[in-house]
Amino acid sequence: MIQVHGLGKRYGSREIFADLSFTVPEGGSLCLLGHSGCGKSTLLHILAGLDRLYSGEAAVSAAAGFSYVLQNYGLFPWKNVAENVGLPLRLRGVARPVRREAVARMLAELGLNGLERSYPSRLSGGQKQRVAIGRALITDPDVLLLDEPFSSLDAITREHLQNLLPALRRHRRFTTVLATHSIEEAVFLGRNILVLGGSPTHITAAFDNPGCGTPDYRSSDEFFRLSREVRAALQASAPAFEENSPC
Ligand code: ADP
Ligand code: MG
Repeated sequence: MIQVHGLGKRYGSREIFADLSFTVPEGGSLCLLGHSGCGKSTLLHILAGLDRLYSGEAAVSAAAGFSYVLQNYGLFPWKNVAENVGLPLRLRGVARPVRREAVARMLAELGLNGLERSYPSRLSGGQKQRVAIGRALITDPDVLLLDEPFSSLDAITREHLQNLLPALRRHRRFTTVLATHSIEEAVFLGRNILVLGGSPTHITAAFDNPGCGTPDYRSSDEFFRLSREVRAALQASAPAFEENSPC
């Protein structure tokens, strides 16, 4: 579904990636885990086709429709919840009654009933992110790209939305690539986890995680064991300045 092969990317003289390769199968759930500034957003931008200045191959299957969820929600403040969620269908010329029904179904699935006419400024962070996820899923994409989608939420809301994502995936069957700097998030959500580090950024460790995504997984021995392993891998690939920092 997604194929990255020999990817190279530079900003001016700074080389971000030199030779990055990985694949994501259809229905897969990949977490890209790495320190701030390692190139996660750059990679998602490339996969989304928003940045074409790279070498090598970075392809999402030609037939696949995809959506992109950003950290800062990206909602239109002058549109209410229903209008924000329904916007992609409107842009595709979907008739209003069909749109209405699809939006109502999506809002019910995301637990946003009763907020149809609310504007983003009246919503909590968790509600805004649900609206953003609803807007991304309303077109039934094959691939969902998420860039640190839960990092600005409080811990309880974050956990709730983290639980929601696998449930949505099971029901709607899309492939996800999620960038995060949270070990717990990567281990809870990533069927496959790639730890990114070094300079230029490369894959320093890869983990398979067949048990991910069920609410019980968080309290399982396997979750803690893998979290420890992933943490060790992330620390081993930490930027040098952190190692030498007095704090
Ligand atoms: P992450 O999402 O992992 O925090 P980014 O992909 O945003 O990392 O950035 C990777 C590196 O590239 C950072 O050092 C950042 O400062 C730099 N960078 C990002 N976008 C640009 C740009 N448009 N021009 C120059 N440098 C950039
Ligand atoms: Mg980023």
